[in-house]
Amino acid sequence: MSEAAPRRLRHLGDVPVSQLRHVGEKRTAALATLGIENVFDLLTVYPRRYIDRTKQLDLSDLGVGDEAAIFGEVQKISSRRTKQGRTMVNATVADATGSMKVVFFNQPWRERQLTSGVQALFFGKVTDYRGERQMTNPVVDVIVGASGEERDAAKVGRVVAIYPASGKAGLTSWELGGFIEESLRRAGPMLDPVPAWVLEELALVDRTSSLWGIHLPGELEDVAPARRRLAFDELLRLQLLLALRRRRLERTAAGIAHSFDPDDLDVSPGALRNPASSLVRQFLGGHRYQLTSAQRRVLHEIAIDMSSVLPMHRLLQGDVGSGKTLVAETAMLAVIDTGRQAAMMVPTEVLAEQHLASLRRDLEGLGRADLAVLGGERPLSVQLLTGRLKVRERQAVLDGLASGAVDVVVGTHALLTDDVHFRALGLIVIDEQHRFGVEQRAKLRDKGRAMSDEACDPDLLVMTATPIPRTAAMVLFGDLDRSVLDELPSGRIPIQTKWAVTDDEVAASWQLVRDEVAAGRRAYVVCPLVEGSDRVEAASAVNEHLRLMENELHGLAVGLLHGQMKGPEKDSVMEQFRQGDLDVLVATTVIEVGVDVPEASVMVIEDAWRFGLAQLHQLRGRVGRGSASSYCVVLGAAPNDDATQRLEALVNLTDGFALAEIDLDLRGEGTILGARQQGRSDLRLASLRNDEDLLLAAQRIATKMVVDGDLEHEPEMIDELRLFVDDEEANFLFKS
Ligand code: ADP
Ligand code: MG
Repeated sequence: MSEAAPRRLRHLGDVPVSQLRHVGEKRTAALATLGIENVFDLLTVYPRRYIDRTKQLDLSDLGVGDEAAIFGEVQKISSRRTKQGRTMVNATVADATGSMKVVFFNQPWRERQLTSGVQALFFGKVTDYRGERQMTNPVVDVIVGASGEERDAAKVGRVVAIYPASGKAGLTSWELGGFIEESLRRAGPMLDPVPAWVLEELALVDRTSSLWGIHLPGELEDVAPARRRLAFDELLRLQLLLALRRRRLERTAAGIAHSFDPDDLDVSPGALRNPASSLVRQFLGGHRYQLTSAQRRVLHEIAIDMSSVLPMHRLLQGDVGSGKTLVAETAMLAVIDTGRQAAMMVPTEVLAEQHLASLRRDLEGLGRADLAVLGGERPLSVQLLTGRLKVRERQAVLDGLASGAVDVVVGTHALLTDDVHFRALGLIVIDEQHRFGVEQRAKLRDKGRAMSDEACDPDLLVMTATPIPRTAAMVLFGDLDRSVLDELPSGRIPIQTKWAVTDDEVAASWQLVRDEVAAGRRAYVVCPLVEGSDRVEAASAVNEHLRLMENELHGLAVGLLHGQMKGPEKDSVMEQFRQGDLDVLVATTVIEVGVDVPEASVMVIEDAWRFGLAQLHQLRGRVGRGSASSYCVVLGAAPNDDATQRLEALVNLTDGFALAEIDLDLRGEGTILGARQQGRSDLRLASLRNDEDLLLAAQRIATKMVVDGDLEHEPEMIDELRLFVDDEEANFLFKS
């Protein structure tokens, strides 16, 4: 690294860590296990926290009951087995003022990590054990290894950055800090690709200061502005990539302008069916329900998208039970009307079968022109394509798709295999697929074009029932336009949710199930989540099913549904439950998505605290679909505050969006963003909860830069973006 021009971020990505002074083969390998290969990787390992060594808590000041962070040196350490067979590691930690005991259970490796002479931070609660102060299972950050050279250096800095040290890789926070410091010094001034007007408008510090401020702050006050600047950069890069992707798609699109007349949405149920009018009109006119105003608004947005030559990329968010299916069906009919086909992709086979049944029911009586048949019209053909079909059945569906004899196909991922070809694919609907990332959607779109003889981009409608807070949606679905169904069909009676903990409450819950069944309704029982494999979970569901049949639910017709059952077996159980041959369905979370049995009026969720809030809400949405009052009972005490807050929120709130905001607060965004399977461009510092203002600013600025074409005059910014996309993607995004 020379002293020449300001350094670009991408240059740092070209410098392997082995060029650093103290990094030889062994440390190169250790760093690689942490995913750190070059200097850029290193500089984006951010401190977990800081200790201000001028204001440190002395061990002698520490009192029983304190929650504290103590910096000390390990004096001795030993381990033994307890009577229960657990490993117990005992350490004595001291600073200049005193000492304290630290105990670890079931962490035998601590003995190797904390050898005597190691200096570390210990976070935990101080308890009293036989008159001595003690911390049990504290969080530990090793700061200085046992070797002398590092130890002197440790005494210098006033504010010390603590990095996520890794015992496994054998790297201490101090070593990481040392490599980072060397990198920063040798890199010298950094080039700042963000336009000056942006920095000024948002009062952001320059890039060089931000890197120094986060890694080597002179004082703690330097950290916040540094973090803010770096977080903004992450968000800006992400939003620029999304904006570029969007523009690129628009430029290369070969979309279809479907004839979807928004006026057709204004027909009321009960209208006489006129075969000369559009399928949408016939369908809505003959439907049981009037569209809710939210459905009408969303369909209006969809109609406008679909009529345009640009392919539609729209996310439809709607709480469970908001009526997404009707929206999807209407959109599908609009493409079928012009002789094209629609595909609906769902995550599970159970759901595929269920959609098949409801589509066939809902589209019954509708037909389309076909000159090959007598009368010039044939009924619509709705078919299933899953991995389960027999070879011959599958071939028949494939032939129908290729010839155009099949109008709608419902399936799982099996829809995306190479032998699937459409005569003219007009619309892809993805239901409940919040698990799809931006890249996968881009692939799907290409696939859609390649799959159809027309070589056009089908319109894409992604539906999700997992309400996503706005900020998270901007990141996860930044490539999509968004519509929201924010209204439930009228006449719904809100689900009453109860939390049963005591024996009496639990007994009352099972009595409620029996009462509802006696009144002709049905119930779900959701089995506890079990860690381990699907198989373990299935086994536990099998046991619970038996137990309930012998005890609480004795005498009722109780079925069982879990993920290890064969397809036809699952179908037949679902069918029996749907028909009412079964009163109760004991199930694992396979019923989480989309299952629709209006007669089901109670759901009992066992060990509810094990589930996430979004999942609980999703599960609860399986009841309350009919006209009867319905109930959700969550069973079991909560073992910690988080779980208590989750369950209380579930009891008190029915609005999925409100719950999603709470969920984001409780869980942090890691879990939500986990859905984005992206490498480097992952957000490390930016927080969707705390940086909403930065995110909005980044989106506004990115859109402006891309739409106004300013970005083309910012080669340095483009150069930087290349760090975050693979070559294929870069070619796609940056080719002129
Ligand atoms: P989700 O959005 O969870 O997929 P569904 O599409 O399954 O919801 O709809 C939930 C229930 O509401 C279904 O039983 C459906 O028939 C009913 N429904 C849908 N739209 C309306 C409407 N406009 N008026 C009354 N009921 C409706
Ligand atoms: Mg649905």
